[in-house]
Amino acid sequence: MLEVQDVSSYFFPILKGYDIPVKNAELREKVQGFWRGEVVWDAPLADFSTMKVGGLAAALVIPSCIEDLSVIVAGAQKSGVSWRVIGRGSNILVPDEGFAGLVIVLGRDFSEIKVREEFSGQVRIRVESGCSLARLLNWCMEMELSGLEFTVGIPGSVGGSVVMNAGAWGHEIKEFVASVTWLDNDGQLVSAESNSIDFSYRQWGESRDKIVVMVDFLLFKRDRREIEAQCRELTRKRKERQPQAVASVGSFFKNPPRQAAGKLIEDAGLKGCRVGGAIVSEVHANFIVNTGGATAGDVLELMRIIQDKVWKKYGVRLEPEVHILNNDMPLKDK
Ligand SMILES: Cc1cc2nc3c(=O)[nH]c(=O)nc-3n(C[C@H](O)[C@H](O)[C@H](O)COP(=O)(O)OP(=O)(O)OC[C@H]3O[C@@H](n4cnc5c(N)ncnc54)[C@H](O)[C@@H]3O)c2cc1C
Repeated sequence: MLEVQDVSSYFFPILKGYDIPVKNAELREKVQGFWRGEVVWDAPLADFSTMKVGGLAAALVIPSCIEDLSVIVAGAQKSGVSWRVIGRGSNILVPDEGFAGLVIVLGRDFSEIKVREEFSGQVRIRVESGCSLARLLNWCMEMELSGLEFTVGIPGSVGGSVVMNAGAWGHEIKEFVASVTWLDNDGQLVSAESNSIDFSYRQWGESRDKIVVMVDFLLFKRDRREIEAQCRELTRKRKERQPQAVASVGSFFKNPPRQAAGKLIEDAGLKGCRVGGAIVSEVHANFIVNTGGATAGDVLELMRIIQDKVWKKYGVRLEPEVHILNNDMPLKDK
């Protein structure tokens, strides 16, 4: 029997021991004004990102229910604390200077899955956004529900995957999303049917101040053995084509229209190009890999070298797929 490995769990550190005196007393006072639960001060964000680079979050919280999340978001908005939300950190790049506000992590405590309704071979399920795709896929196998097989090997959370409109092997998550429920910046819950959300290539079209809390998927009944066989095959293909067991964010750049970013980078002679501890993978040129001692600065410099060279050689601008978790990023941009 196949069990999909939840690779993302490896990246969750044990939080105890990081609670060192906070540098920013004003922030501490503000956060403690609206949140009585556990806060990790000066949390090393590299541990919360699959790229394993970057500095500290001034404050970090891991809410375990929507009510807590709602209190945190409304409190942060009211007291002017800037915040960012992350799932498994498999598509973020944390700058070396870190993030000066509050990072909200939606993780395993936020990962309930339940069946909502069944009708003529289709099943509508509701999943909390901190659930990893791996856990969801294992649950789908057990329930003999098909649709999400293409996500095997994507180390993200359900929330992150909807925001990124994660895709592979010709499918995108939007095809199976029935509705999304998010928390707006006043702490209010809002639901929208999938067809009213402007999903496009690796983005969901809603503003960054919305936190996805629940996603309804519409899936189909299928024999477990068939689901497992497809997952095995896709895992085999992924292992063949992508670097394994390395620190990365997967594909670093979006594919330009009708072209493959990896092919452009490879043809520009950049496989193996290195800045400090960051290197262009020899296996797949659209993967920037942290070989161990990379800084975010190394990754960003290598990113610019790649962009410059591909622009000069092919006149194509490569746009990063990865989201940079910086202090200047306006909350309302897309
Ligand atoms: C080895 C590897 C392979 C990969 N393969 C693929 C692939 O085949 N296809 C693909 O599409 N991607 C792939 N990725 C990239 C990544 O796994 C996906 O984009 C994934 O969906 C990101 O989910 P996350 O929880 O890690 O998001 P994060 O990296 O934590 O966040 C990404 C963005 O989403 C936002 N966000 C996260 N959670 C929420 C939420 N609940 N509400 C609102 N905003 C939120 C964050 O603020 C950030 O802007 C791969 C990555 C790795 C490391």
